[in-house]
Amino acid sequence: MKISIIGTGYVGLTIGACLADKGIEVLCMDIDETKIENLKKGIIPIYEPGLESLVVKNFANGGLRFTTSGKEAIQFANIVISAVGTPPRADGSPNLSFVKEVSKTFGKYIDDYKIYVNKSTVPVGTGGLCTKIISEELSKRGKNIEFDVVSNPEFLREGNAIHDIKYPDRIIIGSSSQKAKDLLTTLYKRLGEENVDIVYTDVKTAEITKYASNAMLATKISFINEIANFCELAGGDVRAVAKGMGLDKRIGKQFLNAGVGYGGSCFPKDVAALIHTGKEYGYNFEVIKAAQDANEKQKTSLLKKLKEHIGPLQNKHVAIWGLAFKPETDDMREAPSLKTIQGLQAAGANIHAFDPAATETAQSYIEPLNIKYHTDMYEALKDTDALLIMTEWNAFRTANLKTMLELMKSPTILDGRNIYERSALESMGFTYICIGQKNPEPKPSKVSQNILV
Ligand code: NAD
Repeated sequence: MKISIIGTGYVGLTIGACLADKGIEVLCMDIDETKIENLKKGIIPIYEPGLESLVVKNFANGGLRFTTSGKEAIQFANIVISAVGTPPRADGSPNLSFVKEVSKTFGKYIDDYKIYVNKSTVPVGTGGLCTKIISEELSKRGKNIEFDVVSNPEFLREGNAIHDIKYPDRIIIGSSSQKAKDLLTTLYKRLGEENVDIVYTDVKTAEITKYASNAMLATKISFINEIANFCELAGGDVRAVAKGMGLDKRIGKQFLNAGVGYGGSCFPKDVAALIHTGKEYGYNFEVIKAAQDANEKQKTSLLKKLKEHIGPLQNKHVAIWGLAFKPETDDMREAPSLKTIQGLQAAGANIHAFDPAATETAQSYIEPLNIKYHTDMYEALKDTDALLIMTEWNAFRTANLKTMLELMKSPTILDGRNIYERSALESMGFTYICIGQKNPEPKPSKVSQNILV
């Protein structure tokens, strides 16, 4: 079995490295020449725990190779996995130009039976579109070569990607071809657990399954965030509510952590894409749209609380811990920190930012206005008026509170991920504001100043 991966990003590179580690010959292709040159030198373009050693080891033993040649990649493999990006357009629809390009290349260069596996998240009907493009390329060449298009969406979580690829909850294989289903089943059994759940279905159903899964998870997050907002007004602790709910097996424990909203390269984009595709079919996704709207509001909830508590932000010094959309990644796409930082910049605050992995990536997403990036999380706190916690890295959970208290000018913590205990912090003298608990009332003088912000 020989595999080519087209698109060597978060998904493609991780899958390529995991397959190679199982002794399968893998060729990773990308149009980004710098990325491929760096990978050949062992320079990994992303932060993903465990990935660097896996890539370096398998590149060194020849099992994992890299190229920028589409022709080489298509001709090398019997299974071609496309993992190119499907970024959002302004209207929410996914940009399929990269997917179309890969289909064209596939049709241009196949010389015998091959399987084209679509791992990118694509709207229903894309499999059919790829088949059409490939067939057109073949007819331009006057060739009649057998091929199969499979929809095989990916569900890995950044930060846990290697584990998720080796031990997925399920695998979805959407195809009308038994030959393709059998080959992919063999591949996946070799990659991970022998008894992994595989759902065999048609291409369209597989495509919809991916969006439905992400929309469900996004809705779950927005749901618990609404309950959190209600707890803040009515009393009650959303963490205990979530525990009480999650023990019900019909609900489940995961994705019930209230916070500052979801971000990342998948949920916002996939929710928007599903709503957009719904419209194309004349369907209005009311629940999913509400989840999307609630998330937009949630992203700025911490900034609102900050303004209420410390008054006008002009010339205030505000530390931010956590820039990426979640811990254990450097991915800044749609990170909730971005909106918060924009709001702080607009209000004239001085920002002191720290992230264990995303500082470099963050700089291409954030306007260089009133922001200083720190390499030490405590250094970022020096003489600040408040600290905003945007992601829940372990280093933040286990931070030395005494040192934090000494460093901050005004020890006010706005915990957007509920990582601390109110009683411990308040007994030390911090003002502690979090998500989904009754928070201290803002001081009256500061509330009135708030109109000026
Ligand atoms: P990415 O942006 O990190 O990587 C995509 C790569 O494709 C880039 O390196 C780009 O240079 C390359 N590329 C673009 N056009 C190409 C072409 N014609 N030929 C070869 N390479 C090309 O994207 P990603 O995060 O890996 O996501 C890829 C797909 O997987 C998306 O559809 C995404 O929605 C889906 N997905 C992502 C995740 C995730 O956590 N990142 C999880 C599940 C599914």
